[in-house]
Amino acid sequence: MNQPILTIVVPCFNEEEVLKETSNQLSKVINDLIEDLLVSKESKILFVDDGSKDRTWEIIEEESLIKSFVTGLKLARNVGHQNALIAGLETAAKQSDCVVSVDADLQDDINVIHSFVEKYWDGYDIVYGVRDKRDTDTFFKRNTALGFYRFMDRIGIKLVPNHADFRLMSKRALEELFKYQETNIFLRGLVPLVGFKSTNVYYDRRERFAGESKYPLKKMLAFAFDGITSFSVAPIRFVTFLGFLSLVLSVFAGGYALIQEIIGHTQSGWTSLILSIWFVGGLQLLGIGIIGEYIGKIYSEVKRRPKYVIEIDRYTSNTMEKNIV
Ligand code: UDP
Ligand code: MG
Repeated sequence: MNQPILTIVVPCFNEEEVLKETSNQLSKVINDLIEDLLVSKESKILFVDDGSKDRTWEIIEEESLIKSFVTGLKLARNVGHQNALIAGLETAAKQSDCVVSVDADLQDDINVIHSFVEKYWDGYDIVYGVRDKRDTDTFFKRNTALGFYRFMDRIGIKLVPNHADFRLMSKRALEELFKYQETNIFLRGLVPLVGFKSTNVYYDRRERFAGESKYPLKKMLAFAFDGITSFSVAPIRFVTFLGFLSLVLSVFAGGYALIQEIIGHTQSGWTSLILSIWFVGGLQLLGIGIIGEYIGKIYSEVKRRPKYVIEIDRYTSNTMEKNIV
């Protein structure tokens, strides 16, 4: 086997504080891999600027002048982590044999990329980076994440626990992934659906060394909800179950009321009436809300809107120029 061309894709949103350091450390990883003859000299780092408002793109440009294998992709506006990642993966896959995706904040131990590539040589198409401990995450984040994985498992969505978007994928696995043409993407759920031979590599998750999380609670919740509704109809089933349950209950309650009536213990009935109005009304609203959520999903899916727009592509043009010379 020839040395594979590896591209490391890094989505960046307002990451001016960390980018230079990230670029240096990733360059070291790439250099070591090239020296160890594990990847081709054509291997690259691809920073995807997800519509940052700060100096992120300027830093990417500077870095690409200093280091020959650093390239950049500038998106026309902010499209969010998952879409930015897809933009990078689609661009990289055209000219790579395997692609690693990693966050710009280096919370994931990039030294294990070496093991990723070794696994690729062993014939694995997908290598998941899995966090061993989450000591450095806040108590809150750790527990919400744990609860999330449990819940997802319960409703039948198979995820690799404690795996974020730090993974290696072969070209053919990526090409299969791109066939999933959905607009609401949740990569962690999609990648396992692709199949092929896959394995895990474990590492310790570190603290963000600069800047702050771009995933505040509100975005985290939206992300989790997206993950659920994109992959499962369990919430709709739950509503059906609730409806059924309240039907059964109301039959019993009706029987009880009738007996009371016959015996002559009639009460004013105001409390039970008002309670059931609120209860059933609440149930209905909840049901409509959840169903509306799915209709919203269908709405955005049928539109088939592009997931991202590329403003500047230094990756493809760079490689093309090289090929011409
Ligand atoms: N990111 C992005 N677009 C966004 C938000 C985040 O490309 O709209 C990038 C961000 O620069 C980082 C990665 O996605 O490289 C993960 O974000 P972050 O580290 O803030 O999330 P956390 O690790 O806290 O979940
Ligand atoms: Mg992070």
